[in-house]
Amino acid sequence: MFVKVSPSDYARHRRSWRGSVPLRSFSRLATELASTSDTVAVDLKFELDEHDRVHMCGTASVQAELTCHRCANTVPTTILAEIDAVIVRSDAVAERVAQEADVIVVTENPIQVCELVEDDLIMSIPWRVDEKEHECIALDASETTQALPTRATQFTQKPFENLRKLLEP
Ligand SMILES: [Zn+2]
Repeated sequence: MFVKVSPSDYARHRRSWRGSVPLRSFSRLATELASTSDTVAVDLKFELDEHDRVHMCGTASVQAELTCHRCANTVPTTILAEIDAVIVRSDAVAERVAQEADVIVVTENPIQVCELVEDDLIMSIPWRVDEKEHECIALDASETTQALPTRATQFTQKPFENLRKLLEP
């Protein structure tokens, strides 16, 4: 169940790692999410950047259910982490690199794929559900009340339009 990669080897050969990682290997993420899938889809590319540092970019995504803060319904959501980071071996190096790029400190080599993407996934969990992404009952109610002034404005604009038409030769 644990998939391991060596980021530095992968980077030297400009290799990619693509696959599904069981959600249960993400201990922290699994407790944060009510997930509707058992796996996290991971797609990572490794390469050496111009400073010979291990650069990793790609995505990790998982299907989950979030609770809407307005109507309290659960909403199916894709948690998508877009990853673009430099992998370093120590906190000291991380501090230097952090000024110009996102940094992931990796002390084990090889390392589990889940550890490379878990922080980014946790940070990608939306704070709140986008009300427009689902048929939010609470939002429907507030939209109807907001719609009225808009219509009123349209009515006030119409007479001018007619007036302009009358003035046209
Ligand atoms: Zn809602």
